[in-house]
Amino acid sequence: MVLTIERTKLVLPGPITKKVLMIPRTITTWQSLSWQEELSQLITDPETLLDLVQLDKTLLPQAKKAAELFPLRTTPSFARRIRPGDINDPLLRQILPIDQELHSPMEYSTDPLAEVHSTVAKGLIHKYEGRVLLVAASQCAINCRYCFRRHFDYAGNTPSRGEWQAALTYIQQNDSIEEVILSGGDPLAISDKQIQWLISEICQIPHITRLRIHTRLPIVLPSRMTSGLLDILSQHRLQSVLVVHCNHAQEIDEEVSNALQAIAQAGITLLNQTVLLRGINDDANSLTTLSKRLFSARALPYYLHLLDKVNGASHFNVEESDAIDLHRQLLASLPGYLVPKLVKEVPDKPSKVPINY
Ligand code: SF4
Repeated sequence: MVLTIERTKLVLPGPITKKVLMIPRTITTWQSLSWQEELSQLITDPETLLDLVQLDKTLLPQAKKAAELFPLRTTPSFARRIRPGDINDPLLRQILPIDQELHSPMEYSTDPLAEVHSTVAKGLIHKYEGRVLLVAASQCAINCRYCFRRHFDYAGNTPSRGEWQAALTYIQQNDSIEEVILSGGDPLAISDKQIQWLISEICQIPHITRLRIHTRLPIVLPSRMTSGLLDILSQHRLQSVLVVHCNHAQEIDEEVSNALQAIAQAGITLLNQTVLLRGINDDANSLTTLSKRLFSARALPYYLHLLDKVNGASHFNVEESDAIDLHRQLLASLPGYLVPKLVKEVPDKPSKVPINY
């Protein structure tokens, strides 16, 4: 069976057979797991996911095929927020491998941001003036199907503890660098001990004044935001910024909201970036609701990104003219501080490129 996209919806060419199965008992057990336990019980098998969301197994062959190119990976916590039986659920669409990932137009590539040209040491990307990005982890808790790093060579770019020195030396020797960004993979997927060590090394470099962390864990694994981690992230000499990645209001349940509020209460500047995704959030209602819900949880909407043209993700693309229309609607219906900047990344530009109109 092949899924096709018609306008913004996935259409099944046959009836959806809703299973009368109850969600497996383990899903309630998951609610009481520690973050480490939940991380060790990620859903990586398409059949398990289809069972959980009560969808027809006719989707299985294509899901398995697409997962060979980029594995399925999600936390039980994120899966719990998917509406059972709905193939168009905006959370499911972000994680379910489908046939359309197997075909990419010419302008799509495996490294759409040309990061290979900005890699200055193993795990260190220096693309923009004044800040560098450290690939602190090789994996995420969730594999987003549209991820621009879905083909990234993590094996070749994640330093071992012994290899960090080259990256840290580069930062020490460049006093124009003021900010270090921890990215990945998801930097919060590594242990508290490793994060603490990395932050303490960064703190020893006098010209670094800001630490930024890009993470999706507060959204997809909110139990990760323990008081111990929040202490590590906030109790050092640097100004702290944490940028989460949330694309739809349905991702923010009570547990996520509490996790976000805890980050803000720890004195960390909390921002959100969203990728504009066809069939997921490409309507004004979804985006305005998202901005309001983020702000209720004390996160400021920061960027609304156009899709990076990575192989396997072309079915998520929203044309720039449509994005501009949507952004106009956001401006008309929200206070300015709740309207994220509309941007895109263009390789070799000195910053993200604002889409002005
Ligand atoms: S969490 Fe971020 S880095 Fe990880 S797969 Fe999703 S978009 Fe990519």
